[in-house]
Amino acid sequence: MRILVSACLLGYNCKYNGKNNLNKKIVELLKDHEVIPVCPEMLGGLCCPRIPCEKVGDRILDKEGNDCTKQFIKGAEIALNIAKEKQVDIAILQRRSPSCGYSVIYDGTFTGNLVTGSGVFAQMLQDLNIPIMEAESEKFV
Ligand code: SF4
Repeated sequence: MRILVSACLLGYNCKYNGKNNLNKKIVELLKDHEVIPVCPEMLGGLCCPRIPCEKVGDRILDKEGNDCTKQFIKGAEIALNIAKEKQVDIAILQRRSPSCGYSVIYDGTFTGNLVTGSGVFAQMLQDLNIPIMEAESEKFV
């Protein structure tokens, strides 16, 4: 299978804080598959480390109130084009992220609260009917 994966899950230091979300179970699961790592936020031109962002309505704001929506959309579109070019079978995404979060994301208050919803990139994948699995779903924890 061709599997697109949030790069931070594979150990890339692309998180807002310059760290990663390495998930060894996912790395093990992927060893016999073609893996396509992407970080939509980095593809959109955001730096690393960067101020954390959350989805607030239709916009993406950082913790200081700066509007980063354009960078998020640009990065998600680039990542989506990669997914389409590679004809990925499925995407495994990091939870809660305003880019990669699928079904549950932070609520925009920077307090750790969660709401139902998807990040910018995850929503684009959903709109194309590309199957998504969450990093912390039962299969991976
Ligand atoms: S945008 Fe996605 S891949 Fe990049 S750090 Fe955030 S969750 Fe990980």
